[in-house]
Amino acid sequence: MSHYDYLVVGAGLFGCVFAHEAAKAGKRVCVIDRRDHIAGNVYTKEQAGINVHVYGAHIFHTSDERVWRYINQFCTFNHYINSPIAIYKDELYNLPFNMNTFSKLWGIRTPDEAKQKIASQIEGLGIKEPKNLEEQALSLVGTDVYEKLIKGYTEKQWGRDCKDLPASIIRRLPLRFIYDNNYFNDRYQGIPEGGYTRICEKMLEQAEIRLNEDFLSSKNQVSYDKLIYTGQIDEYFGYEYGPLEYRSVRFETEELPVENYQGNAVVNYTEREVPYTRIIEHKHFENTQAPHTVISREFSAEWQQGMEPYYPIGDGKNLALYEKYRQLAEKEENVCFGGRLGSYKYYDMDKVIGEALDFCGKELGQ
Ligand code: UDP
Repeated sequence: MSHYDYLVVGAGLFGCVFAHEAAKAGKRVCVIDRRDHIAGNVYTKEQAGINVHVYGAHIFHTSDERVWRYINQFCTFNHYINSPIAIYKDELYNLPFNMNTFSKLWGIRTPDEAKQKIASQIEGLGIKEPKNLEEQALSLVGTDVYEKLIKGYTEKQWGRDCKDLPASIIRRLPLRFIYDNNYFNDRYQGIPEGGYTRICEKMLEQAEIRLNEDFLSSKNQVSYDKLIYTGQIDEYFGYEYGPLEYRSVRFETEELPVENYQGNAVVNYTEREVPYTRIIEHKHFENTQAPHTVISREFSAEWQQGMEPYYPIGDGKNLALYEKYRQLAEKEENVCFGGRLGSYKYYDMDKVIGEALDFCGKELGQ
């Protein structure tokens, strides 16, 4: 049996960054993953000549110079700018909430008119300190935007009433009084040419990779000094305090014999009655030329054991439970936890890379 300095469980972004840096520092690294592929949820797979984002759309964006320089070692980014469309019944709007949205919604033209309209809708709601997602959304954009573009979508995506969700979720989205459909405020944005899987392949060039291997059920097959665990922290501890809650996502992906199905990579369906939250048309991420297309309808579901966990539910109850697991984790000798599942965080990719680099700094003395 070979011996490694580090065993990394999970070949997602956190695990890949750590494995790359550790190998570069001369350490022997083994990476295992229970799936049959590397790259975690950023995995992209070619289908009919189109890179498909198998675990949902991933658009890289960051304002962190260090992370941007780092990731650019492994790929070239195109100039994709995310500008999703929202469809509510037979109406179509631009996202994020900006002057294009307001102008279409109310037939107005100027920022002052939009602000007045929103102010008149907020007046009388009596919200001082928003306590939940509904109050936060209403106090930012008023009732029309909330009812048409937020309420139905959010309740589908999270399976919870907007009053029972943290305000922070909605603060992810920009609100602008200029005509600008860029979904992100970050300085850098794009899709890696050739897909995300290649980035992870390059990061793992010097590491031993073992796929289809479940660490928790095959603990003794690899000998190592230290474990870097990026799977679910609650699962690692056998759900000792009970399971943390996640939202899961199911994709229905199909290839269609049409050149351009929806004219945009991301189209959100914001009304409650449409069962899916959005349709992704993958070719538009990389401007892939093909006479056919591949689309994925995204359905949200409550996570249960055996399903893929996607979004941690960051409410008070779950964060308190996570804290208990975190304290257990601290006592675990020669084991470090990281990544979205290891630290139970609703993470953007750049934040995962940033935290992985910070961790490398501490662990490898970089
Ligand atoms: N959201 C919404 N309407 C939309 C898009 C997003 O209300 O058309 C809300 C929803 O609550 C969602 C949150 O904004 O959970 C964050 O959306 P984002 O697109 O950042 O989610 P992700 O891409 O991470 O799933």
